[in-house]
Amino acid sequence: MKHIDTDVVVIGSGVAGLSAAYRLRQADREVVVLEARDRVGGRVKSDLSNGFLIEVGGQWIAPDQERLLNLIEELGLEKYPRYREGDDLYVNGQGQLVRHATELPPLAEETLGEIERLIDALEELSQEVDPLEPWSHPRAEELDAVSFGGWLESQTPNAEAIDFVSPFVAGGMLTKPAAHFSLLAALVMAASAGGFRDLADLDLVLNERVLGGMHRVPERLAQEIGAERIHLETDVRSVAVDGDSVRVEADGLSVRAREVIVALGPHLVSRIEFTPPLPPKKQQMFQHFSMGNVIKVHAFYDAPFWRKQGLSGTTYGPSEIVHETYDNTAPDYPGGTLVGFVSDRQADAMYALGENERRQAILGSISSYFGAEALEPAFYYESDWINEEYTRGAYGTSFSIGAITRYAELVRSSVGPIHFACSDIAGLGYTHIDGAIRMGERAAALAVSAAGVGPSRS
Ligand SMILES: Cc1cc2nc3c(=O)[nH]c(=O)nc-3n(C[C@H](O)[C@H](O)[C@H](O)COP(=O)(O)OP(=O)(O)OC[C@H]3O[C@@H](n4cnc5c(N)ncnc54)[C@H](O)[C@@H]3O)c2cc1C
Repeated sequence: MKHIDTDVVVIGSGVAGLSAAYRLRQADREVVVLEARDRVGGRVKSDLSNGFLIEVGGQWIAPDQERLLNLIEELGLEKYPRYREGDDLYVNGQGQLVRHATELPPLAEETLGEIERLIDALEELSQEVDPLEPWSHPRAEELDAVSFGGWLESQTPNAEAIDFVSPFVAGGMLTKPAAHFSLLAALVMAASAGGFRDLADLDLVLNERVLGGMHRVPERLAQEIGAERIHLETDVRSVAVDGDSVRVEADGLSVRAREVIVALGPHLVSRIEFTPPLPPKKQQMFQHFSMGNVIKVHAFYDAPFWRKQGLSGTTYGPSEIVHETYDNTAPDYPGGTLVGFVSDRQADAMYALGENERRQAILGSISSYFGAEALEPAFYYESDWINEEYTRGAYGTSFSIGAITRYAELVRSSVGPIHFACSDIAGLGYTHIDGAIRMGERAAALAVSAAGVGPSRS
């Protein structure tokens, strides 16, 4: 077995792990990154299939995601805005298509009133919640005991208003049915993005993209860290604290360090054997995180035909298989690209189909917004995060009902020399790339300030 001595060992080369390693190198600490996959980036990944560049994972940047914005600038990368000229489309529960230039579609006056009332109530509650310490809200237990779906139903009998508001958090963010997470979890999601109104504002959440693809962020970080410090195809099996050092073992490789940063999805931490075991409550906490699931679909066309019709490409249909689409055409692509999302129960239903039937059903749903032209893309691509052993779903994990008030105080706590980093344990930027950077930088600072990790020996 090969052996390496270093200052800090980082497990996982997603944006959190790479941000940690990058800042540690800047602080002149020696670092080794161990990554199970054959590539860096984790949930930020691009695929070049048939000459089409596909951003399979994280891609959009919101204006308040300042750590991500700063890092993009620091790494010398450029951004561009999402295409959003023209009218949006909405498909209601009866399958009727409505075109609109206003922020909300022209629904019945009573429904619009109920939507506004729900949004106001959620905005007010989300402003009361500190995303870093949601358990400190005076009514935290109560907010964590009721499901988001149950709370919405308790607020209005208007099913269309509920169906309209629910996906802003459920299908659209946590990618779970609204009955599967608490109202407090929904408020944390909103508070982490600046409040419920900001979360529901597409012009903020889906504002910009990185020129050439978001994967350039992890690639550039890896370049700065140095390829010789990053070990791919190295699935970490065990972490043992031994006196004042830590021994991390993967197949064929053993690393001894002063500190370790565990930078993986919290639902995957239990794959690693810890000696001594992590504190019982922390172990249980990891079991209360579960992944949502969403299929991200790209359809590439010879031309952005919707633009000629004065359409933005932005659609919303809470009951549709594809509940939202956007114009995802990159500046250097001569045709037009639509990206769509199939979330939670609709994703379950799609995975029950064969590949061809699934493609037909998904394109059929996209055509319910854009008509028959959408049925024949030049190239079609579905993400498949659920079948990736080192992710197991998308976009991220969230706590089960009641678990925030029971466990979340432990979510970022270190265990001796073991520190944790991942977007899924972030306060600000929770389940987003910005949160991954925040958590990576925080873990690096903790490792640097920990006793015994002085400047690099080299
Ligand atoms: C389809 C999709 C769309 C998204 N869209 C957006 C978006 O538009 N904007 C946005 O901000 N965010 C978006 N996100 C979320 C964002 O991509 C993630 O929050 C972020 O990339 C997570 O980074 P991370 O480093 O915390 O975790 P990960 O990226 O999950 O990194 C964890 C790493 O650990 C590795 N690993 C796991 N187990 C082991 C082990 N035992 N040994 C060694 N290595 C291991 C994994 O292979 C992985 O590389 C999206 C995510 C998905 C999936």
